Amino acid sequence: MTIVVNDPQAAEFGRAVSQFAQDIHITDQPVDRQAWKRAGALGLTGLEIPAAFGGSTGATYAWNAAAVDALATISHGLSSTFTISFDIATPYLVALGTPEVHQRWLPPLALGEVIAALALTEPGAGSDLAALTTRAEPNGDHYSITGSKTFITNGSIADVIVVAARTSPQAGARGISLFAVDANAAGLTRRRISTIGQSDCDTAELFFDQVEVPLSHLLGTLDEGFLHLMERLPQERITSSIANLAQADVAMNLTLAQVRERQAFGRPLGSLQHNAFRIAELDAQRSAVRAHVDACIERLMNKTMSTADGARAKLLSARLENDILDLGMQLHGGSSFLEGTEINQRWIDGRITRIWAGADEIMLHLIAKDLGL
Ligand SMILES: Cc1cc2nc3c(=O)[nH]c(=O)nc-3n(C[C@H](O)[C@H](O)[C@H](O)COP(=O)(O)OP(=O)(O)OC[C@H]3O[C@@H](n4cnc5c(N)ncnc54)[C@H](O)[C@@H]3O)c2cc1C
Repeated sequence: MTIVVNDPQAAEFGRAVSQFAQDIHITDQPVDRQAWKRAGALGLTGLEIPAAFGGSTGATYAWNAAAVDALATISHGLSSTFTISFDIATPYLVALGTPEVHQRWLPPLALGEVIAALALTEPGAGSDLAALTTRAEPNGDHYSITGSKTFITNGSIADVIVVAARTSPQAGARGISLFAVDANAAGLTRRRISTIGQSDCDTAELFFDQVEVPLSHLLGTLDEGFLHLMERLPQERITSSIANLAQADVAMNLTLAQVRERQAFGRPLGSLQHNAFRIAELDAQRSAVRAHVDACIERLMNKTMSTADGARAKLLSARLENDILDLGMQLHGGSSFLEGTEINQRWIDGRITRIWAGADEIMLHLIAKDLGL
């Protein structure tokens, strides 16, 4: 990434995160609390937190980019678990939280003692987020939250959860608010979901039964949660794009190694023109997508990135990653189908990138809207 190459401190940080990721990664389960504390000591979990609350001084989004690239190179699941907490959920607490929310959660988040999650999706509302039905009703000195969430990254291990809930029943997207919820509050139960990939990342369902949340834990403005989400989802899309490109790079390297090594018809698979051209085409696409993501990172940092810019980055990077992984599977032949090979593990882990954080179709919708269609 240009931004990291041009920022020696961010590049140095990326190398430290890369070493950390190699040290702590476990393939089939989420990292333990000790690893989170090491992430805190490294400055990873404090990247979005102001120095006054123990966050990393002087870090820009280039540091996030370097860290996400390093984590995702090891695995999507490892990247997801950390980025949902430090890069995606924490900024809501920082930008929209009251002084009480700041005091309670930012210092331990920076130290890696507390893990955060973002709970938007419900069994009946994923792409159509405005249809969510989990409700938060004022009751004296607190809100009472009832409903359920699903597919929540870090859902069963988080200590604080940013929850989107309906506060005005008839108001559609305008009637949603965000709350900082103590994950151990009475009435909140959590259940880990079994997934086909990313077993190194926790994914869970959450059930809220009259969970009491202090009035001071409302994030931002009442009924304007949807707007708050729209303001912050672009960063999530760029972070996703960086992870997708990191995976695309690994997939390309695995594929190149295979076609250089594997012989068929008396020559390496990669010297057969059909294969060479397909790889070359994807390599060219990778350069173009990387250039767009690099431009988006710059725009994100100087606050000029549009929603459509982010949607293009997320759409193209997820498709590219999956296209390279799929070609990699094809060119690994029958061995690609053996249990536990690196190419098929990454192929399975990568498939969700075209669905989560806004499915391809939602990205296309945002781009079409930008074109006035
Ligand atoms: C491993 C994992 C981790 C996740 N982490 C989180 C998290 O931390 N927090 C969170 O809130 N959510 C999370 N999600 C949820 C994820 O964001 C949703 O799955 C996603 O937004 C899609 O919603 P859905 O599953 O309800 O699919 P649906 O909304 O039912 O859509 C199903 C499919 O329909 C198609 N579709 C949707 N809309 C349109 C349209 N307008 N036009 C044409 N076709 C369309 C798409 O192909 C889509 O994949 C996670 C999901 C997974 C699997």
